[in-house]
Amino acid sequence: MKPDSGLDAMLKVVEIFQSVQGEGANTGKSAVFVRLSHCNRNCWFCDTDWSVGTDMTVAEVLVEVNSLSDPEDYPHNLLIWTGGEPTLQLTDEVLEHFSGFYNCIETNGSNPVPTRIQYISCSPKVSPDILKKNFKHVNEFRYPVGVGETLPEISDLPQADNYFISPLFVGEEKKRFEISAENVEFCIEYVKKHPQWRLSLQTHKFLNIR
Ligand code: SF4
Repeated sequence: MKPDSGLDAMLKVVEIFQSVQGEGANTGKSAVFVRLSHCNRNCWFCDTDWSVGTDMTVAEVLVEVNSLSDPEDYPHNLLIWTGGEPTLQLTDEVLEHFSGFYNCIETNGSNPVPTRIQYISCSPKVSPDILKKNFKHVNEFRYPVGVGETLPEISDLPQADNYFISPLFVGEEKKRFEISAENVEFCIEYVKKHPQWRLSLQTHKFLNIR
């Protein structure tokens, strides 16, 4: 259920932390991350336990985010709403309280995103038809790809500034994942043949950072 508007509205939160964005066009940028609980998919390669979390008011989330992002020291104020699937909880009423930040979302594409979101990073777990219904434009698509997988035609996707593929890491569900040399090679060969796609490595996994 979506929360009520206002600072006393509740969000279920897995974690709030500052780190460096590890993938996509914002790779290397300092950011504060709010990881929200819940997801509407159950991907075998998911590396996040989104079933856990703490109930926090929007006011409590704001205090924690502010403590990690002094506007004088961090003028970009990149705030990344991630999950799980953040659209299950995040609303424009919530985002109104974070208007001092550059609000980004990492979504699986199954729902439209709030209009106050300024940067959409979509790692699709739904068909291109659903993506077209939910989005006119996204800033980046990031498809996780393993050997032999077929990607959609770019012409079948909503318009995007960047189309990335990321080699799937392999491992036990919800456990530490390892890079797969086969998946890396497959992605490199794919990009060579389809230069509209770009390679995006999940550098945070190589660096073992959040
Ligand atoms: S959509 Fe993302 S968060 Fe949800 S199960 Fe799949 S990989 Fe995990």
